[in-house]
This record gives sequence, C-alpha cells and structure tokens, in this order.
Amino acid sequence: MIRTEGLTKYYRQVTALADLNLEVATGEVFGLLGPNGAGKTTTIKILTTLAKPSAGRAFIQGYDVVSQPLAVKRCIAVCPQEINLDKELTAYENLLIYGKLYRVPDLKKRLWELLEIGELVDRAHDLVKIFSGGQQRRLLILRALLSRPQVLFLDEPTVGLDPQIRRQIWEMIQQLHQQGITIMVTTHYIEEAEKLCGRVGILNRGRLIAVDTPTALVQLVGGYVVESHDNGRRHYDLVRDKNEAYALAQRHHDDVTIRQSNLEDVFIQLTGERLQ
Ligand code: ATP
Repeated sequence: MIRTEGLTKYYRQVTALADLNLEVATGEVFGLLGPNGAGKTTTIKILTTLAKPSAGRAFIQGYDVVSQPLAVKRCIAVCPQEINLDKELTAYENLLIYGKLYRVPDLKKRLWELLEIGELVDRAHDLVKIFSGGQQRRLLILRALLSRPQVLFLDEPTVGLDPQIRRQIWEMIQQLHQQGITIMVTTHYIEEAEKLCGRVGILNRGRLIAVDTPTALVQLVGGYVVESHDNGRRHYDLVRDKNEAYALAQRHHDDVTIRQSNLEDVFIQLTGERLQ
C-alpha cells in the first residue's frame, strides 16, 4: 500500500511536485502519466527514500519514508529508468552479485525462478552487453524482484523500446500483478497507461490533475474525437457518442477523422497541451 499526504518537493525555484495526495491499494498497478518534467521521477525518488520531501508525508506499507527508511527499503524494489546493469558480466552473474549483496535466501533457486519469469534461461550465461534492449530491460526488472518486494516501482520501464518488445515487458508486468505485487509505474506512453494500469494519475508540472481508471478518465472528456482540416484550419472536437461524431463530421468537408478518445485527449482537455 502506498499513501501520500500533501507531498511536495522544491528544487530551488522549481516546484517538482506540489501537494500530492494519493492512495494506491495493495495489489494495484497504478500508473503515473505525464510529459517530461511532470514530476514522475521525483515522486518515485521520494517514495523509495532516495529524495527527501520538502513538505508532506508518504507511507509504504504503513512505514513513513522519512522516519522509517530502512523498514520501507525492506518492502520495496526500484527499477530505474537507466539500465545500470554490469554489461561485462553475464545475466546470471548480475543477479548473483545483487542477490548476495541483498542476502537473498535460497539465492540460486530464486535466480533460476526469475530467469524463467523473464524468459532468459537460455541466455543466463551470455554477457549482458550482447543482449537486446528488451532483454536488458527484462533483466533489470528481474534484478529488482530478487528480494521479493511487496511494492515495485518501475520508472519508464519501456522507454526507447519498439512496440513489440514493449508488449513483452507489459506481459511480464501483468504476470507480476497476478502474483499480488503492488506496482507503481511511471510512463509518458498513453497506450502503456491504458493497457497496463488499473488506475492512472495524470501529472502535469508537478500537480496531480486527475486520477481514475483509464476508462473513466476517457469518459470524462467524451468517448469520441472528430479531427478535420477545413481550408487549412485544423478542428479538434470531443463528443459523447458516435452519432454526435457523425453529425459533426458531416459539417466538415476535407480530411475528417473520427476516432475513440484516449488519455492524450484527456490530457489536452485538462491542460490545453499535448502529452508527447
Ligand atoms: P521525465 O519523464 O523527463 O523523466 P519526470 O516527470 O520524471 O520527467 P522529474 O524528473 O520528476 O520529471 O522532474 C520534475 C521537475 O523537477 C523538472 O522541472 C526537473 O527539471 C526538476 N528536477 C528534477 N530533479 C532535479 C534536481 N536534482 N535538481 C533540480 N531540478 C530538478
């Protein structure tokens, strides 16, 4: 379980995070969605005890991240944005060293269990430097799982990966969800938030501007979008249903597109800006 109360972080004049109030239930996959600089990594850093909040409080499994950092560290694992594996070592060696460092009981059994989950058993003794981006990312997630965390933080787990590889990572995360792990994932990919997360919080300039299930958020702005170009002018309208969309489309002449709305449209509606 994750809870924040008025969580705020200033870096000199920059307000990286402002008054974040959030509750993530045990076993939930919760997504923090927002553009670059929205405050996603700052949130993860505070929740994982790597940064101190300027104000407010945060709790993981009931432990205070500021006054009980060791207790917090015992229940969590973090998968950072950058791939900080030792690329001159094999996959197996990477897990072994980390596992010894964290005194993981029954380490060898756990290693093979994890390599199985990540579908990397055949590659266990290959050097990480020859792994694809997707395989490296999977190994990074496996390393985070070594200590059997109750709460897992994934910071942009599929950044820079092509769509097919991204889907493989999603499958792996869905498998972890089925095991009951609480997962907080940051992303600026709309599809990722929609497919993976039970609930999504939209962050913009350090502020949480909406939080709900992806379906409910999309319903909030209307189910359909009509986009058109008339005499060089671009029109963009959100409407409730298909009939309304068709009626509106008939009024435009050139290049009309009707599509279902998505979280990007929610973001545009709430902020007047594009997400990506
Ligand atoms: P990205 O998707 O690019 O990782 P983000 O949503 O994770 O973005 P943060 O990294 O949390 O955003 O940054 C939020 C704001 O805080 C940004 O304006 C950033 O420049 C600023 N910031 C973050 N870390 C620091 C720091 N150590 N010193 C000064 N400013 C910082």
